[in-house]
Amino acid sequence: MRKIIHIDMDAFYVSVEIRDNPRLINQPVAVGGQPNTRSVLSTCNYIAREFGVRSAMPASVAMRKCPNLIIVPGRMDVYKSISTHLRQIFERYTDIIEPLSLDEAYLDVTHCKLFNGSATLIAEDIRLAIFEELNLTASAGIAPIKYLAKVASDLNKPNGQYVIPPQKVLSFITDMSLSKIPGVGKVTFEKLKACGLEFGQDVRQVDKKELINKFGKLGISLWQKCQGIDNREIKTTRVRKSVGVERTFADDISDIEKLNLFMHEKLIPELKKRSKGYLSDREISKLGVKVKFKDFHQTTKEFKHHNFDDSIFNTLLDQALCRGQGKAVRLLGVHIGLGEEANNQTQFEFELEFD
Ligand SMILES: [Mg+2]
Repeated sequence: MRKIIHIDMDAFYVSVEIRDNPRLINQPVAVGGQPNTRSVLSTCNYIAREFGVRSAMPASVAMRKCPNLIIVPGRMDVYKSISTHLRQIFERYTDIIEPLSLDEAYLDVTHCKLFNGSATLIAEDIRLAIFEELNLTASAGIAPIKYLAKVASDLNKPNGQYVIPPQKVLSFITDMSLSKIPGVGKVTFEKLKACGLEFGQDVRQVDKKELINKFGKLGISLWQKCQGIDNREIKTTRVRKSVGVERTFADDISDIEKLNLFMHEKLIPELKKRSKGYLSDREISKLGVKVKFKDFHQTTKEFKHHNFDDSIFNTLLDQALCRGQGKAVRLLGVHIGLGEEANNQTQFEFELEFD
C-alpha cells in the first residue's frame, strides 16, 4: 500500500504578490494582463472568487464582475525560485517527487520514516515548513493512490488537508462526483451524466465492457479509477545522467588481459542490457571506464561518443590502468553518459481530457 501526498499551493501567483505587497491585503487581486488588452487572468485570490472571477477569464470580463479588482502583472522568475525552494522542502521527506506545475506536486512518502511514517503528519509538517520558510500556504491531499490524493487536496482548500485512508477509498469513491476526477472536464462530465453516470457508484454498477464500448480509453480509465485502481507511479523528473555497471573482485587483479576479458564478457553486456530502457528515447553521450586500485585510489576515463564501441572501451581501460602504474585492481566499472531526451514532450496528467 502506497502513501501519496498531493501538495498544492493556494492561489499561488496571487498569494506571492499579496505577500510581497501589503497594499493588496484584503483586496480582490488577480495576476494577469491589463483589462484593456485581450489577455486573460492566470489566477485570482479567494476574495475575487467571491465575485465570480476565475482563472483563465478575460481581464475585461473580470473587471465587469468585480470593478475593484486589482490586476497585477506576474513575476515568473519569483515564482520559479519559490518553486525551487518548495522542491528543497519536499526533498527532506522523500526523493520520489513528481511536479505537475510550479506549485503542485505528488510525493510518494511510502518509505519516509519521519513521524512514524504517518503521511498525515508528514503533510502537516511540509505545510508548516512552507508557511514558516516562504510565508505562503499550501493544501494537501493524502491517499493510497495518485488521483485520489489530488482530489483530496481540493477538499479543505485553502490552507487545509484531507486524508483518504486505504479502508475508506471505496466508500469515498462511491459518493464522489465524477467531475472531481482530474481530467474529467465540463464537457466530458455532461456526456457521462447523459448516460446516467454521475457518481463513482454509477460507474461501478455498469458493465466494464459496456463502458469501454461507449467511452473507449476514457471508459477503461474511469472504470479503474472507480474501482480504486490507479497504479501510475510517481514520475520523478530527476533526469538520470548515466548508467553504469561495476564489480569489486574477490581478489585484486593485475593481469591486463584478464581485466580486458572481464570488461568485454561481463561488464559491457550487462551495461547494454541495463541501458536498453533509457536508449529508447535518449542517446549515448559518452563512454567511460572506472578503475579502483588496491590502495583505493580511483580513476575514471571518459570519451565523447554516441555508440557502444569496443575499441574505445579498450583504450579507456588502458589509459585508466596507466594511471595506476602497475598497481593491482580491486574494482572495474564501465558506464555510458545519457544525452538529452529526444522526446521532450510534457507528460500530461490529464489523460482523461477529451473536451
Ligand atoms: Mg495551486
